Amino acid sequence: MKEAFITKEQAEEISRKYPTPFYIYSEAGIRSAVRGLKKAFSWNPGFREYFAVKACPNPFLIKILQEEGCGTDCSSYTELMLSESLGFHGQDIMFSSNATPAADFEYARKLDAIINLDDFTHIDFLAQHGGIPEEICLRYNPGGKFGVGNRFMGNPGDAKYGMMPEQMVEGIRKLMKMGAKRFGIHAFLASNMIDKDYYPALAAVLFKEAVRLQKETGAVFSFVNLSGGIGIPYLPDEQPADIDYIGRHVEQAYREIIVPSPIGSLDIKTELGRYITGPYGILVTRVLHEKNTYKHYLGTDACAANLMRPAMYGAYHHIVVLGKEHEPCVKTYDVTGGLCENNDKFAVDRRLPETVPGDLLAILDAGAHGFAMGYNYNGKLRSAELLLKEDGSVQMIRRAETPKDYFATFDFSDIIKVD
Ligand SMILES: *Cc1c(COP(=O)(O)O)cnc(C)c1O
Repeated sequence: MKEAFITKEQAEEISRKYPTPFYIYSEAGIRSAVRGLKKAFSWNPGFREYFAVKACPNPFLIKILQEEGCGTDCSSYTELMLSESLGFHGQDIMFSSNATPAADFEYARKLDAIINLDDFTHIDFLAQHGGIPEEICLRYNPGGKFGVGNRFMGNPGDAKYGMMPEQMVEGIRKLMKMGAKRFGIHAFLASNMIDKDYYPALAAVLFKEAVRLQKETGAVFSFVNLSGGIGIPYLPDEQPADIDYIGRHVEQAYREIIVPSPIGSLDIKTELGRYITGPYGILVTRVLHEKNTYKHYLGTDACAANLMRPAMYGAYHHIVVLGKEHEPCVKTYDVTGGLCENNDKFAVDRRLPETVPGDLLAILDAGAHGFAMGYNYNGKLRSAELLLKEDGSVQMIRRAETPKDYFATFDFSDIIKVD
């Protein structure tokens, strides 16, 4: 049974101050996810999680993660700005970008962030724009398909990211000549994997690659970055990824591959996003209309511009009709937003309790790649983000957009003035 971490009474009270739709995040949930992750990897003294900023780029939430000891994983100029403004610096920041502008590399170097190079040609580009640091990471792409046993997980051979095995060797040789002294390697081979064998299998691939690269180049390896990709149970019948199993089995691969090799030891880094905040964010929206035509529709005050995963990937997000948690699911609805796009549906053919205009819906597991992927199509405005703190109070951590924000980029013209 999936449950919302707020009740109808709480949501109604909050909505009197912060009108729907809004996002609300659970501080307690986010802290417990990081603590569980750190515990599972505590066998590795240098372990560190670099939260993938793109998953939920709210400085108030990232500050909580900073208190828990996390760094940030950035891939753009503004994500670096956000990190710098919170006091992240040097080893606190991984810069895992691709198709990177010169100014972004220059800024990352100014912050002394750990740079994760996506391509061989970026070596010269970085040398010209910021310079080659002493410690640097290379993003690996083994090609082909990736899986465990006969479980298919991902298609690295089709992915735009990373370097081929020969390019890794050439890259490290070239970087050593240019002054690099310590290396890390990184790969992201599958996304949203609740399969507990994904991370251990990925770790084994990266550990073996590090050993091979050390042997061929003599380079010093200081870390392996397992990147993101641990999934969350969006569906009611799915189980959360078993983080203790994952930690233990990454350790087993480490003991088998790294410990007996000339590398001997290295730090494990992760760049999880979804796993850290995904289950701990809810989009709360009110039903505005019930429409009965060829199907039953519930039209809400949120739309795909607030949460695009269902429209973009056909992703499942569980919906709780607040206050009706214990009523039987007797009716089949499409839950829609108001975009002039027929894919603007949070759910299709979803069994829900009898629902009427005025009811509040909690769209669950929206805490990662939710608000962050929002946009302004159809002139829709981004919602507020709220934080349910550990003491039970609610703090606004981003205000809702107003029409003035929407028109702000016409500030050079006299055509539109909004106050
Ligand atoms: C998106 C991304 C992540 C985070 O992915 P999740 O699926 O949220 O864990 C980590 N690293 C890189 C380089 C990414 O692009």
